[in-house]
Parts: sequence; structure tokens; C-alpha cells
Amino acid sequence: MFSLIILFMETGVDVQVGFSLSVLVCDPIHEDGLEILRKGGLKVVYAPDIGREELLRTVGMYDALVVRSRTKVDKEVLERGVRLKAVARAGVGLDNIDVEEAKRRGIAVLSAPGGPSVSVAELTIGLMLCLARMIPYADSSMKRGRWVKRELMGVELMGKKLGIVGLGRIGYEVGRRAKAFGMELLVHDVYIDKLMDRVRELGAKPSTLEDLLRSSDFVTLHVPLTPETRRMIGERELRMMKPTAYLINTSRGGVVDEEALLRALKEGWIAGAALDVYEVEPPTNMELIRLRNVVCTPHIGGQTIEAQRRNALIIANQLLNVLKHL
Ligand code: NAD
Repeated sequence: MFSLIILFMETGVDVQVGFSLSVLVCDPIHEDGLEILRKGGLKVVYAPDIGREELLRTVGMYDALVVRSRTKVDKEVLERGVRLKAVARAGVGLDNIDVEEAKRRGIAVLSAPGGPSVSVAELTIGLMLCLARMIPYADSSMKRGRWVKRELMGVELMGKKLGIVGLGRIGYEVGRRAKAFGMELLVHDVYIDKLMDRVRELGAKPSTLEDLLRSSDFVTLHVPLTPETRRMIGERELRMMKPTAYLINTSRGGVVDEEALLRALKEGWIAGAALDVYEVEPPTNMELIRLRNVVCTPHIGGQTIEAQRRNALIIANQLLNVLKHL
């Protein structure tokens, strides 16, 4: 009972919608979010493993969809979703939803900005340390019974230049943590003029993308995937980087041209890369994944208990608010 009161206070579930409205939850979301939807008066169908065929067959019965990144809500899904009033993404980045088509049909598109920011930022710092000290290689060598100390001459983060591309929520959280490591920060963002408070707080230097790439020891990407950012890091950009520099991508795979990255890593244009996201997920380009100077994780940036719960709470409350105004 006590925990229910806490949940109520924390999430402010004061919205009730009619029981006639139903929502299909297509990907795994935290139980606390489901609870808010039910308490808000929605009929919740939880189908976290639903396949595309079943989704297309049943979507017409629902007033709202809740998805994470697995479920693609494209034109066909929206067309068949004749009752849909809202599509909610329990996370950040709307590239798995056809936002334009949804808008055209008057369907609200919701996301949970801020939910996973700290988790993604912490993973980014972890990956940066992995690159600097070759921790994954050290670990796998030890497990194979090898003592490769001499091969593992690393670098410190202190005093190194970190280029942050995209100073939004995640980029900012990365900046705060990197500052604590004593790194110098360069930042590039299309809306940098509106972000000058953050820039000053971080003691960062605003840069053009070109200057940032040329002078950073580590470059970390935190932009959304849009037509402008698709493959924004390609051969030209990778060739600008220092041969001792590292690239970290925890944003979206499509932001980096993976073919160009493969060549950059094989031919020594840059020293290494850490990737959490891929053009195709799971990735098919195993040559890139298997390189010794690549550290990989399977899109786990937001995969923490805290981020998942935050996402679920944010999205559930938003959805109730949208549906109550119908
Ligand atoms: P945000 O919207 O707060 O920040 C994005 C920033 O990028 C903004 O400041 C924006 O001005 C800037 N930007 C946009 N286009 C740009 C361009 N062409 N050049 C330079 N800057 C540009 O988003 P966020 O919450 O920080 O998240 C960033 C991205 O991280 C998301 O869009 C998502 O794709 C990704 N993400 C990944 C994971 C993961 O699991 N790895 C989890 C959450 C989010």
C-alpha cells in the first residue's frame, strides 16, 4: 500500500480516461508504466513480442500504441490503425515512427525525452574508457589464459580533447561527466546559440564540425537521425580526424557511414571506435564488429532499470493526458 502511495505521488496519476479506450503495448516496458495506464482507465494489451503480421492484423482495434525501438510504426501500420489517436515511443528518437504520416492522419506522436539521458551518457563514458585502456581486449585475453600487459599501453582521459557533436540532453550529460575527468570540451550543435548557458557551464568551446573533428582526441556523437545527420560522419569527416583519435557512436547507426568507418579503422585514419548503434540492427557487417580496435555493445545505451522505468512513467502519463482530451 505504502509503495502504491509513493508511486501515485511520484507519477501524479490523476488522469482518468474512459474504459472504452484501449492501448497496445508492442515492446517491453516497465511494469510501473503499465500500472499507470491501467489505473488511468485504459484497457491495456501487453504484447511485448508482437510480430509485424499480428500487429498489422490487430492494430485496427486500438486507440493507441506504445513502442520502444523494435516495432516499426510505418505508413502501413498507421493506415491500418483506423482508430489510432496516439503513438507513444517509450524512449528518445522517433526514427522508427513515420511521424509525417502520423501528423497527416492527426495521430499524436509522443516520446520520453530525458528518460535515458544519464544511462546513455554513462555508457558513453564507459566506452571511452574501454577505448583508452583497451579493457575489453584485456579481459578477453585474460579469459583465454593470456597475459598481454605489454600490448596494453593506454592513454589517460585527463587533458584530452573531447568533441561532442550534438549538445542536447545526452551530449550535455556526457560533457558534465567528461569535465569531471579533466577533459577539454569542444562542442558542435546546429542550435549552439540557444545552448550557450550549457556551453559556459561546461567551459566548452563551440566549434565547427570540421574544427572539432580535426582537433579532438575523442569524438562522441549525440545527434538524432534525420535527413541532415544521415551519414554525417563519412570518409571526408573520418579523414579529418587525427590518426590517434577515437570515435564513439551511441546515437544512431545511420549517422556514421559504416563502410567508410571500416576503411578508416583498417587503414589507420583513426585509432579506434566504440559503437552501440548500427545501420542495421543486429549488424550484418561482422568485419567491422570483429576489428580489434572496435568496441561494440548491442544498443544498450538506454538499457538500464532506471531509464526503462523513467521512460515508462513519462510516456504513460503523457498518453493519459493526450487521451483524456479526446
Ligand atoms: P536532443 O534532442 O536532446 O539533442 C540532440 C541535439 O542534436 C540537439 O541539441 C540538436 O540541436 C542537435 N542536432 C540536431 N541536428 C544536428 C546537426 N545536423 N548537427 C549538429 N547538431 C545537431 O536528443 P538527446 O536526448 O540528447 O538524444 C540524442 C540521440 O541519442 C537521440 O536522437 C537518439 O537517436 C540517441 N539515443 C540513443 C540511445 C541508445 O540506446 N544508444 C538512447 C537514447 C537516445
